[in-house]
Formats: sequence, C-alpha cells, structure tokens
Amino acid sequence: LVAESGLRMFMRYDRQAVERKKHQLSLSQALHSAIEQDQLFLNFQAKYDIHKQALSGCEVLVRWQHPDYGIVPPSLFIPLAEQQGQIIEIGYWVLKQAFQALVNWNNKGIHIGKMAVNISGRQLMEPDFIDWIKRHLTQYGVNAALLEFELTETFLLENFDDCVNKLNVLSDLGISIAIDDFGTGYSSLAYLNKLPLNVLKIDRSLIADIESNLQTQSLVANIVRLAHDLNLRVVVEGVETVDQLQLVQQMGCDVIQGYFIARPQSEQGYIALLSSANSQSARSLSGDKDV
Ligand code: C2E
Ligand code: MG
Ligand code: MG
Ligand code: MG
Repeated sequence: LVAESGLRMFMRYDRQAVERKKHQLSLSQALHSAIEQDQLFLNFQAKYDIHKQALSGCEVLVRWQHPDYGIVPPSLFIPLAEQQGQIIEIGYWVLKQAFQALVNWNNKGIHIGKMAVNISGRQLMEPDFIDWIKRHLTQYGVNAALLEFELTETFLLENFDDCVNKLNVLSDLGISIAIDDFGTGYSSLAYLNKLPLNVLKIDRSLIADIESNLQTQSLVANIVRLAHDLNLRVVVEGVETVDQLQLVQQMGCDVIQGYFIARPQSEQGYIALLSSANSQSARSLSGDKDV
C-alpha cells in the first residue's frame, strides 16, 4: 500500500513536471506573437518623494494579456524573453509606448517628474541600443531629462566594463541611471559608483522583513548612508505599510514606491491618481490660506 501511494505520488509529480514543461513550451511559442497580436500593455506605478511629500514620477511595468493564460506576470515571461532573445523587441516596444505616453501627457499639460523604464542587460548590450535611443528621443520629441533607466545590480556587476561607456553616453544625454533591486547581489556600492549612477533602489525583499529583522534594519540603514555619501538618491520599493514607511523615512530614504502609495495601474488610472493628488494638495494649500 505504501509503495503504491509512493508510486502514485511519483506519477502525479511527474505529470505536473510534464505539464509545467508543456506550459513553458507553449508560453515561449506564444511569446513570439505577443507583440504582433497586441497582447502587451503597460502599467504605471507612482513614486512618492518623502521630502516634498508629493508624487515624483513613476515606473513603467510591462504586462502580457494572453487570451488563454490571462495576465502572465513579467517575472515569468521577461526571463523567458531574455533567454530567447525577444527581450530586444519587447524592450523597444516598451520604450516606444513609454515615449508616446510622455508626449501625450506633455500635450495635456500633465507633468509627472521622471518616468523610469526597466532596461534588460541584454538590451543595453545590443549594438544599436544607444543610436536607437538617440533617434527615438528626437523622433518623439522627448526630453531625456524626464527619463530614468533602471538596470539590475547583478547585471551591472557582471558586465561592469561594458556598462561604463554605454551608461556614460546615456547619462550625457541627460537620462538618469538607477541600480534596481539593490541588496540582492553582493556588490560593493563604492565599486558600482564608478558608473554614472544617480539613483539606488533598495530591493523589496529587504523591506519585507524590515520591521521584524534587526539585521535587515541595520543593513538598510547602512545602504542608505553609503548611497547618500556617494550622492545617490535612495528609492525604496515594496513599501506596503505605514510602519515600513516610517522606518525608511527615519533612515533618510528619499523616495518610496509600493502598494502603500499605489499599485501599478493603467495609464488612465495613473492619470486619475495624479489629478486627485494634485487637487488634494491644492485643497490643502487653500486650506492653509483660510487659517
Ligand atoms: P522591478 O523592476 O523590481 O519592479 C518592481 C516590482 O515590484 C513590480 O513587479 C511591482 O509590481 C512590484 N511591487 C511594487 N510595489 C510593491 C509592493 O508594495 N508589494 C509587492 N509585493 N510588490 C510590489 P512586476 O510588475 O511583477 O515586475 C517584476 C519585474 O519584472 C520587475 O521588477 C522588472 O525586473 C521586470 N520588468 C517589468 N517590466 C519590465 C520591462 O518593461 N522591461 C524589463 N526588462 N523588465 C521588466
Ligand atoms: Mg524596476
Ligand atoms: Mg526594482
Ligand atoms: Mg525588484
């Protein structure tokens, strides 16, 4: 009986593995047509400046709406796209959409601070990348100073020499450069600072246990101190509670991003959030005058 249930368990496990493999295969085939069939779209997540007490920009996050699978999370399809090379096409698609959104907002008189776009390492390494950016900035009439590119800590660390020149050119164009997911690798910040960086984003995993783990608390406090010594602005991602907000505020973090402020949302949703935030601050200003 024991052996039988063991066998059954094994078969069930095996079937799951096969299903997973099948799913991955069809997902990777589906990814080929995702752009053509217009299945990708963007979400925007607000960032909040703790010092100014105001929204200060957003991060662009790509989404894939598949007719059968529903919304496929980027944590699943971005690594797949990186393996298969489609990240180049997807990355350019995201940038064009982001540029278009900036143009539309500017035309409507909506000013949002910076728009941050995630750039895959593989995309940065594409020989045409810098020229593509220059061409499209001109073509769309986008002010480079409104852009921030987020690159992950691990990529920067592993491709340090290749990054120096490219990031210098982007930085000279006026684009701000952020290290994303900092704290997940084991890099020395002093070393990374040889790159033209402006912003350091502390990874969500460190914020998740910041309230309960004293070691994480001192790690984050030290990262903030060192980042400020190196003239980097500190963005904390994954802030979900008021307690987390207060802790990172005490540590001197500059900007927060997380569900506590806003979830990633559609372009319309994000614009609605901006205008309600604006009218709220206008109301509190006129409130001040009345006193
Ligand atoms: P990331 O750049 O670190 O983006 C932040 C992720 O944290 C997003 O997940 C966001 O939805 C999530 N997040 C934000 N605030 C909170 C919070 O308070 N709590 C929790 N639990 N999560 C929060 P998302 O959208 O699933 O993206 C995952 C990753 O996929 C991104 O991590 C980024 O590395 C990658 N990615 C997303 N869009 C793009 C893109 O256009 N290009 C490239 N190359 N990568 C992208
Ligand atoms: Mg990011
Ligand atoms: Mg991040
Ligand atoms: Mg992250």
